Amino acid sequence: MGRTLRIRLRLRRFMRRHQLIFTILRSLMIFSAGFGGAYGFIKASISENSGYNPHTFAIGASFLFALACVGLATLSMRLRFVHKKLQKIALHNEVLADRNWELQEAEQRARHLFEQQGDLIVMREQDGTIIFVNDAYCQMAGLDRENLIGSQFAFDLIEQGDSALEPSGTRVHDQRIDSATGPRWIAWREALVRSDAGHPAVLQCVGRDVTDRTESERALADARDQANAANRAKSRFLAMASHEIRTPLNGILGMSGLLLETHLTPEQTTYAKAVRTSGEALMALINELLDYSKIEAGKLALEAQPFSLTALIEEITELLAPRAQAKQLEIAAYMDERLPTWVTGDAARLRQVLLNLAGNAIKFTSSGGVAVIAEPGIWPNEISFQVRDTGIGIAFEAQERIFREFEQADDSVARSFGGTGLGLAISDRIVKRMGGRISLQSELGAGSTFEVSVPLPAALERGEQNSFRGPDLTGQSVMLIAPTGLQAELIERRLQHWGAQTCLVAEAAVADVLLPERAWHAVLIDDAIGSDAARRLGATAQHHTTRLIVLVTPASRHELMPAAPFHGYLVKPLRAASLAARVGFAVDDTSLVDDPVPTIAPPITASAGMGLSILVAEDNDINALLMRSLLSKLGHHADIAVHGEAALDSWLAARAAGTPYDLILMDVQMPRLDGIAAAKRIRAHEAAEPGRRTPILALTANALVEDRYACFEAGMDGFLVKPIDRDKLDEALANLAAARQVAA
Ligand code: ADP
Repeated sequence: MGRTLRIRLRLRRFMRRHQLIFTILRSLMIFSAGFGGAYGFIKASISENSGYNPHTFAIGASFLFALACVGLATLSMRLRFVHKKLQKIALHNEVLADRNWELQEAEQRARHLFEQQGDLIVMREQDGTIIFVNDAYCQMAGLDRENLIGSQFAFDLIEQGDSALEPSGTRVHDQRIDSATGPRWIAWREALVRSDAGHPAVLQCVGRDVTDRTESERALADARDQANAANRAKSRFLAMASHEIRTPLNGILGMSGLLLETHLTPEQTTYAKAVRTSGEALMALINELLDYSKIEAGKLALEAQPFSLTALIEEITELLAPRAQAKQLEIAAYMDERLPTWVTGDAARLRQVLLNLAGNAIKFTSSGGVAVIAEPGIWPNEISFQVRDTGIGIAFEAQERIFREFEQADDSVARSFGGTGLGLAISDRIVKRMGGRISLQSELGAGSTFEVSVPLPAALERGEQNSFRGPDLTGQSVMLIAPTGLQAELIERRLQHWGAQTCLVAEAAVADVLLPERAWHAVLIDDAIGSDAARRLGATAQHHTTRLIVLVTPASRHELMPAAPFHGYLVKPLRAASLAARVGFAVDDTSLVDDPVPTIAPPITASAGMGLSILVAEDNDINALLMRSLLSKLGHHADIAVHGEAALDSWLAARAAGTPYDLILMDVQMPRLDGIAAAKRIRAHEAAEPGRRTPILALTANALVEDRYACFEAGMDGFLVKPIDRDKLDEALANLAAARQVAA
């Protein structure tokens, strides 16, 4: 079946292709048949021995006629069939013509649309020959379509921008081209498209003129760079200005300190103290500005050193205790014992943040107390520090704003409390640099809780000992007689953590009733209930406990002397270790045991006969005078050199005379030869000639880290930051004197 069909199809195709041959063949066949038939009849009718029979002839003729009629009828039917088919084809043809017309119209519309597009459209063959361009492209090229089509025109390239390949295969890139209308930025999208089956793919490029956008982006980037540069310049200026201000401030603070040590009338003392307080306020402001500029300039380098968490928070409360106690406020620290006692991080920066928060808490609280609490955070290795106060609180709308620089919750409040509005901005940035966050919970009039959460991994080098073990007070009863507040709450929490059954009593009358009810393991009486009440309650309590401890402030400590009936006292704010020692372990009942952990280490002072000979290189007259006075008061002898060169000469002269200096205090910024260069020269001399190495301490008003590096690189042994802290100077010199004695 298939085969026959194939043969017929081929035959038809052959017929269509070679119609002339077929017509000739057909004509020949008809002619031969007609001629053969007629000739046969005529021949048969005239032949004598053909046996012609008119009847048979008639039958034959009739048969042939009938045959011809059938053939004609068939032909006629076929003609009608073909005619009908032709009509159908004509109709179809008409529909096709309509379609064709519609398609042409659509194509024209599409072409028109393409040509009218604002984007540049060009289609190229693989060799780059243009086969289509739109009006926008012609305009941009400044050429007619006729000139462009068939050419390999391309714009002159001024700058090639970024290029990327999309997953669909489309290449996207920016170019700055030289067009007929001047340089333009074009964002191209180029893709290979197949326009017709059987034809090779063509490259279709669509370009959008993005000159305005690119130029505004560039202008923005330039503006940002300029702003950054200006910001850096501002930070440098701030750093420089604060350095310049520190130098005279050093004189003001130092001299007022010295003045206060002389005999003054009460009026003069008031004035001198006012000078010193103002100087200190200015110093704090400059330090904040310097910190801020350092953070702004991205120069805040964080350290990762092991430090004691307990010491950190207890020292903060101890440092702020005088300020809090002067305002009759409680201040307490609490560290959750699940925390490691030693962690790794930047203790100085964390202290700065917590001091700022706790300092604010005291500033904005007039009654109640302040607490610094350390607890595990929500993430592993995270520690949450809470600074709680019972102060004026912060309105909800101001809570976000106060973390921005120079913002204060309420200007009128700020004016009555002072401050710059920089502290929280600095703290927030420091904490963010540490990878942590600060949050705030507060209500106007209901106190505030600032929470600092920072990742601080445990200091692994501390190993097993890295946790505080409190005493086991399981089953032991402790009475705490103290006004209700943050401090009492935290002491009770700690005692309960150690297993004690606690009884917190705020009223003396209630305590009177409860004390005789049982034998107490320990009774703690806070002198905040009043010295007389404390002593009276102590007298009652001594019959019911063997550990009767009074909680005192450094100021009220003397009011309770003689100490009886108490067995011991604890200085507020309480240290966990001191509380453990008093409550948990055996005490000598008869003696008043002092706080085992001294709050402040006794200052090391240079003892008589240990005076050092010191060369001070300082160009500022007042500061030189101040250094000389400070050093002579500390029992040392000072020679002043007014610049680096003079310092080098004096050092060489003293060395040559066989009386070398014990120490050089070297100002960093000096005329002629600065401190760094002078130190380098001294070290070079020492390297060339054998002899004793002279320690050099830098005196710098610049507290930036890079300045410290520069000092160490120049061979200096340390530095003292201006304004010179008398205790630090004394400590540094005493250590040096001690080292010299050991060496001798
Ligand atoms: P400063 O205290 O120098 O003004 P800060 O940035 O430390 O600057 O604080 C910004 C403002 O936030 C303060 O002026 C004050 O209005 C508000 N504030 C901060 N801490 C407290 C607090 N504990 N209680 C009430 N208000 C506070």
